[in-house]
Amino acid sequence: MSKLCEIGYIKELLRRHGFGFSKALGQNFLCAPHVPVTIAENANIDSETSVIEVGPGIGTLSYELCSRAKQVVAIELDKRLPDILKETMAEYDNFSIVQGDVLKVDINEIVRENFGDGKVVACANLPYYITTPAISALIEAGCFKSITVMVQREVAKRICSKENTADYGAFTVYVNYYTKPKIVLDVPAGCFIPAPKVDSAVVRMDILDEPSVKVRDEKLFFQVVKAAFAQRRKQLVNCINMAFPAVSKDMCGKMLTEMGLSATIRGEALSVEQLGQLSDKIYEVING
Ligand code: SAM
Repeated sequence: MSKLCEIGYIKELLRRHGFGFSKALGQNFLCAPHVPVTIAENANIDSETSVIEVGPGIGTLSYELCSRAKQVVAIELDKRLPDILKETMAEYDNFSIVQGDVLKVDINEIVRENFGDGKVVACANLPYYITTPAISALIEAGCFKSITVMVQREVAKRICSKENTADYGAFTVYVNYYTKPKIVLDVPAGCFIPAPKVDSAVVRMDILDEPSVKVRDEKLFFQVVKAAFAQRRKQLVNCINMAFPAVSKDMCGKMLTEMGLSATIRGEALSVEQLGQLSDKIYEVING
């Protein structure tokens, strides 16, 4: 176990480097040893696996990743941290840093340049202010076997929710289209320094070989999903008709009854698969 979770060591390290936490960069560092260990153990890593880590901070999670993986490349935005990481990660020669913004760098290129064709996973204790765009960027990079990230508990619940619940939304559908997610650990706010206002959870998303639903037009599918959740209180027929004027409310109602659903149903009651079926029916109307 590394000393990177000892409060006394962290404070001394940061003081020596003149480092103050940046709230704007979502800097809540882990200080509970079981958390980085459990994340690394659940991140689908073996000695042949390379890892992209987002936001290494002072290296608390990086340390556990490096002891299990072939190679770890960490993308860190804060220019002050590489100096600290040089010290804390000195014992590992399979660790390197790309200084940059995970939302702006070309993740796929970083993977190709550093790891070639081998198995690669992504892992992170994500900064809260970019949780959903960072997950989208990692999924869209299209080069990971799995993505294991710590996020606000509320976001983890949204990702793993089922239809007909308040947590279920467009982001749930997006993640469940490309991955099979599951919550692997609940992490209370007290496991961080400084402690954030909310609790967290670790979600592992295994990337599917094929999307979970086969649709005729992926772009249209996501337009339908966006429309279905745009106004949650409205019936789905109204939401679809507003987004796709060529599909009248009656036509949409008929599509739903053909699918064995009520014509007055709301979007949030449809599973990912049913949203896929509906988008294929809309495709037929739009494309004649
Ligand atoms: N991994 C460390 C840990 O678990 O203790 C730190 C996690 S802290 C929640 C988030 C980290 O992400 C910080 O090091 C922060 O500087 C970094 N960060 C913030 N915004 C970023 C961005 N856009 N791209 C890359 N890293 C970012």
